[in-house]
Amino acid sequence: MATIQTDYRALAAGYLFPEISRRAATFLQEHPNTHLYRLGIGNTTEALSPTIVEALHHKVDLLSDRDTYTGYGDEQGDTALRVALQQFYHKRGVTLEADEFFISDGAKSDAAHVQSLFGTSDVVAVQDPAYPVYVDSNVVVGRAGTYEKKEGKYNKLVYLPATEENDFFPELPKEKVDIIYLCSPNNPTGAVATHEQLQQFVDYAKRHKAVIIFDAAYSEFISDDTLPRSIYEIEGAKECAIEINSFSKFAGFTGVRLGWSIVPKHLVVENSEVGEIHTMWFRHQVTFFNGASNISQAGGLAALTDQGLQESHEIIAYYMENATMIKEALESLGLTVYGGTNAPYVWVKTPNNLTSWEFFDQLLHQCHVLVTPGSGFGSSGEHYIRISAFGHKEQVALAVQSITENLQLN
Ligand SMILES: *Cc1c(COP(=O)(O)O)cnc(C)c1O
Repeated sequence: MATIQTDYRALAAGYLFPEISRRAATFLQEHPNTHLYRLGIGNTTEALSPTIVEALHHKVDLLSDRDTYTGYGDEQGDTALRVALQQFYHKRGVTLEADEFFISDGAKSDAAHVQSLFGTSDVVAVQDPAYPVYVDSNVVVGRAGTYEKKEGKYNKLVYLPATEENDFFPELPKEKVDIIYLCSPNNPTGAVATHEQLQQFVDYAKRHKAVIIFDAAYSEFISDDTLPRSIYEIEGAKECAIEINSFSKFAGFTGVRLGWSIVPKHLVVENSEVGEIHTMWFRHQVTFFNGASNISQAGGLAALTDQGLQESHEIIAYYMENATMIKEALESLGLTVYGGTNAPYVWVKTPNNLTSWEFFDQLLHQCHVLVTPGSGFGSSGEHYIRISAFGHKEQVALAVQSITENLQLN
C-alpha cells in the first residue's frame, strides 16, 4: 500500500500566473482583436550571443564524431567550467576552490533541493515578498506548516518584510531562525543589498549557527560597483552561506539550462563538522542528479570568456535600457517606482492605495498592458506591481507609450 507524502497537500494553490492568464483571456473575449503588451514575464527574450552560439554548435560537432564524443562528464560539473567560475569570482576578489562549485541545470532546482541538507524542524525565514521556490520547497517537507489563507502565510515560516520603510531589505529576524533565504538583486522588488546589510545577516547567521541561502541569479545586472555581487564578498560568509546562481538571466540560458551552487568547505551549522555540508552536497548532487548537459556546459564556458562576458553584458545593458524607459515613464506620471537600476525588475507602488490586483486590472483595461501583481509574491507585496524589463525594445516602448497615453490617474 503506497501512501502520499501528505505535506504536498499543504502547498497553496498556484494562483498567480493562472489568474493572470484567466483575466487576460476574459479581457480578450470581451475585446477581441486587442493587442496585449506583456510586461509581466521573468523570461529572457533576446537571442544568445554569437560566442555562445558558436560554442554550442562546436560542442554538437564534437559529439557527432566518435573520436571526440563524450558521455557523462565530471561529477560536480565540467572541471574547466568550474575553474572558469573560480576565476570569474577571483576577479571580484572572492577566493574559492574549484571543487566548492557544483554545476547544475539551473538555480531553481538548486534552490529547491538545498533545504534537504538541513534538519526538518529547522526554522525557515524568507524575505516577503519572495521568489516562490524558497517557500514551496520547504512546504513539501513539512517545514512551513499550514497555509493560513487570510494572512496569506504559512504558520511555521518566519516572514521578513521588505518594504518601503526598510528600502526593501529586511531587518534581522527578532526570533532565532536557522535557515534564511536572501535574494539580491531581488526578484520581485529589484532592490540590491549593500555590504552593510549583508554583513548584518552574516553576523546574525554566525551568532546563531544559522545558514544563509543566497540567490544571486541577477548579480550580473548590478552596474554599481559599490554593491556586492556575491555573498562571499562579505567577511565571514564562507562559514555560514551557500550561494546559488545561474546562466539564465546572465547569458540568456533560461531555455538552454545551466546554473551553479557554491558550498564552501568552511560552512558549518550547529551539529556539523567543517567540510561535512560540502561533502553532503557533493553526495546529494551525484546521487540525485547526473550532471548538466555537456552542450550547455560548453556554452557556459564560452559565456565566461572575455568576449562572452562582453557580449552578455551588452544584452544585459539592452534589458536595462528597457528598465530605464519603464521607470522614467512611470515616474513622469507621478507614480512611485523602485528597482530597475541594478535589476531587471521595476517595483511600482499602486496609486490611490489600490490593491495589486485592482491596479493590474486598471493597466489591463485602460492600457492593455499585463504586469504581475506584487501580492502574488507574498503579503508584503500587496499595493505593488512588478514590471519586467525582459522584452523586445519595440514592444516595451509601445507598452510604455500606451501606459503614458491611457492610464487615468486621479
Ligand atoms: C529566474 C530566477 C532564477 C533562475 O532559475 P533557473 O532555474 O536558473 O532558470 C533563480 N532565482 C530567481 C530569483 C530567479 O528569478
